[in-house]
Amino acid sequence: MSQHFETNSIRINKSKSNQKEHSAPIYLTSSFTFDSAEEARATFADEIEGNIYSRYANPNSTDLIEKICVAEGTEDGIATASGMAAMFGSIASLLEQGDHVLAARSLFGSTHQLLTRVFPKWGITSTYGDISDFENWDNLVQSNTKMLFIETPSNPGLEIIDLEWAGKFASAHNLILVVDNCFASPYLQQPAKWGAHIVTHSATKYIDGQGRVLGGLILGKKDLIKDVQFFTRHTGPAISPFNAWILSKSMETLGVRMDRHCSNALKVAEYFEGNQQINSVKYPFLKSHPQHHLALKQMSQGGGIVTLDLLGGVARAQRFIDNLQMVSVTANLGDSRSIVTHPASTTHSKLSEEERQQVGISDGLVRLSVGLEHADDIIQDVERALELSK
Ligand SMILES: *Cc1c(COP(=O)(O)O)cnc(C)c1O
Repeated sequence: MSQHFETNSIRINKSKSNQKEHSAPIYLTSSFTFDSAEEARATFADEIEGNIYSRYANPNSTDLIEKICVAEGTEDGIATASGMAAMFGSIASLLEQGDHVLAARSLFGSTHQLLTRVFPKWGITSTYGDISDFENWDNLVQSNTKMLFIETPSNPGLEIIDLEWAGKFASAHNLILVVDNCFASPYLQQPAKWGAHIVTHSATKYIDGQGRVLGGLILGKKDLIKDVQFFTRHTGPAISPFNAWILSKSMETLGVRMDRHCSNALKVAEYFEGNQQINSVKYPFLKSHPQHHLALKQMSQGGGIVTLDLLGGVARAQRFIDNLQMVSVTANLGDSRSIVTHPASTTHSKLSEEERQQVGISDGLVRLSVGLEHADDIIQDVERALELSK
């Protein structure tokens, strides 16, 4: 193993067959054979290592997990069929009826639905804290609080939470710290370094990076992952071997892709900051970002997402989107193709007006997932649509 992200992401290969293939093969098999009844018994009993059944593990998912664990600095993990299966699995496997989750208010829309609508059915409750008011968080911890769940940067508010603070807070209150690291990817930020016990991902985003497959990851300390593995083994959110293969191959290019996503996004953010048609431009590596100092401390670059708060509310944002010629209108992010979304009317439309305001989603906010096209072409498309939508 190398000291370097790029080399490990390319050279780790846990899925070699005996055919001397150079590129990793795909193991499209539901189960694996045993040489004897005794080998079957010992494998089931965990006395020897070996594949049993693809709902438990498969060489392709093992390969993906190994690469991501090295990148994130985590001990072990599990790959799931989608990011939400990972968010659900991380909470459901580690908490019990009567437990309480403390979460930062700004969360991915479906994670918010999980905490407010799904888990209460099983007696797991949650409270949101405001990240602008950390002094108050001690008061939010209840006697039954077991988990601190955060996202940084957040979607789509791009709020940055101090991971060092979160690690210390979780340890002081004996909480499991879960960090959804989807927006940064392990190339830019490793929450485990700051004390996260569990790191989750929607691999659908930057890890795939080309809008092809869904996938999720739950990574962390061995003792916790053991409980997660028990849960996923028996509830069945396993990733398909094909998707795991795609995502493992994608890891080979994550570093170079992230470099370009970040440099393009910084160019877009700098170009439009101060534009008369925009209330504010938000990007973690702009000096004007309210938590710019934290972004510099814990991220190596600013990521690929820029938000523009357009003058003129919903109607203006929609006109702007309708006037884009190149940038795609779709709900994904982290793709090689630049993407625009209007959170207030789409991804976050299930939130009440008040909830949207609390997480900084104004009516005119558009989220740009800056892709890998030439930066000048992205800027030109956005500028033209701004003019035409006046
Ligand atoms: C997309 C996303 C998810 C959900 O992942 P899926 O792969 O779509 O299930 C979770 N968290 C964040 C921050 C996301 O952007």
